[in-house]
Amino acid sequence: MQRIIRKISAFFSRTKLLPEPASRGNNSPVIVKRQKHGISRKQIDKSALDVLYGLKRGGYEGYLVGGCVRDLLLGLEPKDFDVVTDAEPDQVKSVFKQRCRLIGRRFRLAHVRFGRMMIEVATFRGQGDGDGRKDRFGRKGKLSGPAREVDDAGRLLRDNVYGTIEEDVWRRDFTVNALYYDIRTFSITDYAGGLEDIKKGQLRLIGDPKTRYREDPVRMIRAIRFAAKLGFKIEKRTEKPITSLAPLLNDVSNARMFEEVLKLFHSGVAIEVFEKLRHYGLFEHLFPLTEEILSKEKDGFPRMLVIEALKSTDSRIQEGKSVNPAFLFAAMLWEPMLQRKQDFLDEGFAHQDAFYAACNDVIEQQIKRTAIPKRFTAQMRDIWNLQHRLPKRHGDRAQKIVEHPRFRAAYDFLGVRAAAGETEVQSIFDWWTAYQEKDAVEQVAFANSVAKPERKKRVRRNRNFYRKRSQSAESGSKQ
Ligand code: ATP
Ligand code: MG
Repeated sequence: MQRIIRKISAFFSRTKLLPEPASRGNNSPVIVKRQKHGISRKQIDKSALDVLYGLKRGGYEGYLVGGCVRDLLLGLEPKDFDVVTDAEPDQVKSVFKQRCRLIGRRFRLAHVRFGRMMIEVATFRGQGDGDGRKDRFGRKGKLSGPAREVDDAGRLLRDNVYGTIEEDVWRRDFTVNALYYDIRTFSITDYAGGLEDIKKGQLRLIGDPKTRYREDPVRMIRAIRFAAKLGFKIEKRTEKPITSLAPLLNDVSNARMFEEVLKLFHSGVAIEVFEKLRHYGLFEHLFPLTEEILSKEKDGFPRMLVIEALKSTDSRIQEGKSVNPAFLFAAMLWEPMLQRKQDFLDEGFAHQDAFYAACNDVIEQQIKRTAIPKRFTAQMRDIWNLQHRLPKRHGDRAQKIVEHPRFRAAYDFLGVRAAAGETEVQSIFDWWTAYQEKDAVEQVAFANSVAKPERKKRVRRNRNFYRKRSQSAESGSKQ
């Protein structure tokens, strides 16, 4: 955070000449010249530059826009580089030929590939009336059906009306995401006050917040993600309608929600994202089963488990390690699954049957909100199933467990449970840690020294213990 603040101050000491916002009309942009903004071409991805120069050679305008400009100004490394142009998708295709693929119906876009890097090239969106044939510049829509479609609730279903940069600005979400880096002049153009908002460290939606959230409810969770990632506050008008409009998230397709949930929790700031989502009443629309349990046990074990899982995800991302969506979902749904399993046991199901029925049940319900692909639900089941197998490690069982493709994730998950306060799990986790450090011969002896466990009924956790533990963790004592 300190680093971001330092970068912002450095940026603004270079851009002292910025006019005050009051002196800007809606359509008179602030233009920050190359010498004043400090973004150098060296910081821009080579493929993105190739695309920008390709468009320029083809006689088109080409700008970097969105998160990459925002992040470069803040001294952060952009996740991706988005390009916007006045060339229509077919024209982009004719510039880049076989490197280019046109995608999307809802938003028609060009993907231009250079080696392993893919740059998304969007055409300026305009404000045509969506008659499906012409926008107000007289440009003909090339798709069948309407070029812009909004449903009864104001949700934007499709937007393929092309326009100019001046129009494109107003369809973007936040002012800080509407800064344009022009490849012809290397300057930054700001129509919406994004530079001032970067200076203030605030996220502000462009236009009327309620209308913009109704058009696309995902903007509410984007606000949370950017606020957490950038350490920005959400401006009052932008913040106010979030809680009351949160249920609109239920109308977003579960496929899109799955992608958004991954962006939220694989952002490197997942704990903050989680707390903010709950604060604004958004979390329950992403993980209804988890929220149901969390709301009953405020400071108890389920919350600690989620926090520990997110802590581990955040540190893996900060260390540049890979993260597995199945691990995230397994952690979020672990406690709902266990409770469901207990319900089935109470109904008289056998242990294994209760487990499988509970897995099916919670996964089926969660999929209604986030379309978790099958390969990940299979991994979630493996991670959960291995939690029952990891304690039974005597004799040659240990070797079989280690060879399971999901062993590593299951072992990490066991570590999360131990860190969250499951004391009986800690010694098993430590045993597996020691086991992996031994050579093959030692491993056999080590596993043989484990006594075969007696068959016993499931030990229920002492929740008072977890509650006390989480209270002491929150009051600053080390876990
Ligand atoms: P990051 O890539 O760091 O997650 P980003 O701001 O670049 O953040 P993208 O999803 O890559 O986000 O989108 C690129 C740009 O497209 C945004 O900066 C914004 O201008 C615009 N945009 C994306 N999603 C929306 C949306 N739902 N509503 C309006 N504009 C959007
Ligand atoms: Mg981006």
